[in-house]
Amino acid sequence: MMMTQADSQPVGPYDPSLFEGPARREKRDIPDGLWMRCSKCEATLYRKVVAENQEVCPECGYHFRLTGTVRVAQLTDPDSFEELFAQIAPADPLNFTWDGKTLADRIATEQAKTGALEAVRTGIAYIKGRRVALGVMDGDWLMGTLGSVVGEKITLLIEMGTEQKLPLIIMCMSGGARMHEGAMSLMQMAKTSAALARFDEAGGLFISVLSDPTTGGTTASFAMLGDIVIAEPGALIGFAGQRVIANTIKSELPEGFQRAEFLLEHGFIDRVVHRHELRSELAEIIDYCER
Ligand SMILES: [Zn+2]
Repeated sequence: MMMTQADSQPVGPYDPSLFEGPARREKRDIPDGLWMRCSKCEATLYRKVVAENQEVCPECGYHFRLTGTVRVAQLTDPDSFEELFAQIAPADPLNFTWDGKTLADRIATEQAKTGALEAVRTGIAYIKGRRVALGVMDGDWLMGTLGSVVGEKITLLIEMGTEQKLPLIIMCMSGGARMHEGAMSLMQMAKTSAALARFDEAGGLFISVLSDPTTGGTTASFAMLGDIVIAEPGALIGFAGQRVIANTIKSELPEGFQRAEFLLEHGFIDRVVHRHELRSELAEIIDYCER
């Protein structure tokens, strides 16, 4: 697949607007630091209270988006996360440029911002005492896009889980395939899916947890291949963006389309689990399946 500068936007289902707006703090009329505004109910909230509430709005239950670091801290037993494959660094194979910046420049910016080389953290952790192979995607890192390194790290994680017979948990959050890598990004869908097929043949348990947003090539591959697929309340989950679908089928989309609750009702996912219950839920599923 050849990509040119003119193709740089929009490319495929990848939609940068998914990562603007609702999750980002409204800064206009709130002093920096102590206070924040809920992007759903617009309540003014004490930031510390929201943090203590696992980044869930105490007024309306809106689940704020988490960085990879916060997600790992919330989900795992204290100091139990042992990061693996962290040294694998991304490249800019097509020397891709858009808006006057190369992918390589953007990679450097994302690395400086997050302190991580790539958009997924992988390793071994304990959840309520259960040892698991854990992958956590970071939407803060170039929109959690599925590039070659993300695909490689997830594949290595799956293979380690297969060898060590560990339950596999992947926390998904992604704007889709990293189209700036062209076909090298798209082949990660097949690679991760093939590794999951071998994991499944070996009798492994894979729980996929979808957070807001999980879209594009990520949804079209490992995110939806869980033995159990869980979503956080209100999470946007889909392949193509809503505007693209509405324009293609030339009709209005139903209320709540592509949201976790709508997808549960239509049998696309298995459960919607509040963030407060997530650790217990994962531990229970692991115990149930290991019996
Ligand atoms: Zn709220």
